[in-house]
Amino acid sequence: MLWARAEGCRVWDTDGREYLDLSGGFGVAALGHRNPRIQAAISSAPVVHALGDLADAEVTAELRRRLPWPSKLGVTGEDAVEVALRTALLATGRAGIVAFDGAYHGTGLLALAATGFEQFRRPFAPWLPGPLHRRPYGEDPGELPDDTACVIVEPVQGRAGARVPPPDFLSTLRRRCDEAGALLVVDAVYAGLGRIGEVWPGASVADVLCVGKALGGGLPLSAALFVRDGLAELWDLGPEDVYTHTHVGSPLACAAALVVLDEVPGLVERVRAAGELFAAAGWHGAGLLRARPGDFAAAEEAGVIVIPAGLDGSLISATPPLTISDEEIDEALARIGH
Ligand code: PMP
Repeated sequence: MLWARAEGCRVWDTDGREYLDLSGGFGVAALGHRNPRIQAAISSAPVVHALGDLADAEVTAELRRRLPWPSKLGVTGEDAVEVALRTALLATGRAGIVAFDGAYHGTGLLALAATGFEQFRRPFAPWLPGPLHRRPYGEDPGELPDDTACVIVEPVQGRAGARVPPPDFLSTLRRRCDEAGALLVVDAVYAGLGRIGEVWPGASVADVLCVGKALGGGLPLSAALFVRDGLAELWDLGPEDVYTHTHVGSPLACAAALVVLDEVPGLVERVRAAGELFAAAGWHGAGLLRARPGDFAAAEEAGVIVIPAGLDGSLISATPPLTISDEEIDEALARIGH
């Protein structure tokens, strides 16, 4: 199926068939597809591309000011993870990473080292950085190995199928990191910006918080947020930015992100209520990061777009626009028989 048009929570294919979109395009379209405020921000942008770390556009500087902590911007979610992991190396001089089973942090080599999906890792195993210490998600990892630079964790695992850890999990990780002098990296690329009913999940424990996906309102943008004081300065490594990309701080994406930051706090209560409708229909998870056993192709056949999920692919997940209405949820769940 090819997407010919997408509007709000609905998508039309090239044959004109309409679908309810419970994927939100991997959770990116938090304010709905072609949100009018985002469209206007993009189309009226006075600068389309600037010079990244050499000369920002004004709107990029404004976005940095609007983010609640000092940040280093990226293009993909994986960039934010890469910045966070490198920050841990800069801060500690150590290279070890503690990560969890079921973790998904991206597919570039450093993020892939932390990712827990074997099918992604296996073909590139000889090139994966480390040492990498894998622990069961949701459990106390115990005393951290001596070489640990950081623990990286999703507040709720996304791609593994909306896995919610016990409530004290993140604070246990905080304690283990404090004991070991390691950083706690919270990867909220999927769960962040309202998706699980909080704007900045994990911010009360994180040293570095990663966001992406929804941040750019449909355009590629991510950020590593330095929640703990003193981490941003570790990147003052000389006259040039040593981790950068041509499109970093894209003015169009930053203009869209300003709208996202404006709107998301007002949606958080709604996300919690909408999540309850999924819970009542047997979908586990948190907020609008939901999953249940099911078949992606069968859902599409029924006119609903979901995302295949779970370590063995046996789940479908729902990460719809945060703006989805009760009626749209009811209609989608009725189409796929809950
Ligand atoms: N972290 C998490 C938790 C994610 O879900 C993803 C993408 N699914 C990433 C990182 C990587 O983001 P990207 O695909 O934009 O590089």
